[in-house]
Amino acid sequence: MSAECVKVMVRCRPMNKDEKSKNCQSCIGIDKEINQITLSKPGESDKQKVHTYDDVFAPDSTQQQIYESTAFPLVESVFEGYNGTIFAYGQTGCGKTHTMMGDPSDDQNKGIIPRTFSHIIQVIENESKKEFLVRCSYIEIYNEEIHDLLSKDVKARYELKESPEKGIFIKDLNKVIVKSVKEMENLMNIGNKNRSTGETAMNKDSSRSHSIFTIYIEISEDDGKGGQKIKAGKLNLVDLAGSERQSKTQATGDRLKEANKINLSLSALGNVIQALVDGKHQHIPYRDSKLTRLLQDSLGGNTKTIMIAAISPADYNYDETMGTLRYASRAK
Ligand code: ADP
Ligand code: MG
Repeated sequence: MSAECVKVMVRCRPMNKDEKSKNCQSCIGIDKEINQITLSKPGESDKQKVHTYDDVFAPDSTQQQIYESTAFPLVESVFEGYNGTIFAYGQTGCGKTHTMMGDPSDDQNKGIIPRTFSHIIQVIENESKKEFLVRCSYIEIYNEEIHDLLSKDVKARYELKESPEKGIFIKDLNKVIVKSVKEMENLMNIGNKNRSTGETAMNKDSSRSHSIFTIYIEISEDDGKGGQKIKAGKLNLVDLAGSERQSKTQATGDRLKEANKINLSLSALGNVIQALVDGKHQHIPYRDSKLTRLLQDSLGGNTKTIMIAAISPADYNYDETMGTLRYASRAK
């Protein structure tokens, strides 16, 4: 595994109304030329922390620019048989869902997931010598329990299994065959709707769950000897649970248990990515959370991973932003 295969990017959203009305100042400096983020301590502007990433995006960056720098090359490599994963990490309210989903009904504002659909169908339409099978699944991990967002029963719990042929897989998970952009959009909309239905049904808060939209692509082509050559790749698009320190929210009882599980899965992910990046670890701790176990075949080895850390520019969020920038640096 080379560090080349894990890329870490930071996207800073614009100041929102609430932050403006609180008269917040920006504590973030962005140098796009050298991919650097400078974080200044509020009231002590001489105290600055500088971090360098693979790419950085200022508040005026567009959904299209984000797509071209992140998902575009990954979709292309899925067609070459690679597995790829994009994670959106960060404090609630900083732009994870905006980046991954955005507004699917608005061409300008749609995020990474809906943009992959037309890209994938276009690649397929431009290829006459190969045949393709595209399938999608959409799940949520909440409280270390897996739910299928494409299933009729949003409360049903799904199990992670392992077999020599299939590796790690989710038993009975819906993987729906799709042939058009419309069909992919329909699935996404069904999943999004089930996500909010489940929220009410299970009294949960989506900022505390991880969602994973996966696109599986199988390519078959003539091997030149009268047979067929099959390649398969998949792309995991992950909107992670909010990274805010849960102690600040003064959670108790069930909420505290949930909070601990979120902290556990995000730190397990950080540990896996760090172990992959520094390349010295014999043992990669995939087994420490459902998320990392499930994505084991898409993290490390012959795969490509992008972590997008979403931050707010406001000094009000200084502590959380420092936490996010550190987490992202550790993954470098
Ligand atoms: P998260 O998923 O991290 O909790 P959201 O993506 O829901 O955060 O973003 C919170 C709010 O900020 C939403 O109303 C979203 O539309 C807005 N927002 C986030 N990022 C941007 C951005 N880059 N440009 C404009 N609006 C944004
Ligand atoms: Mg969100």
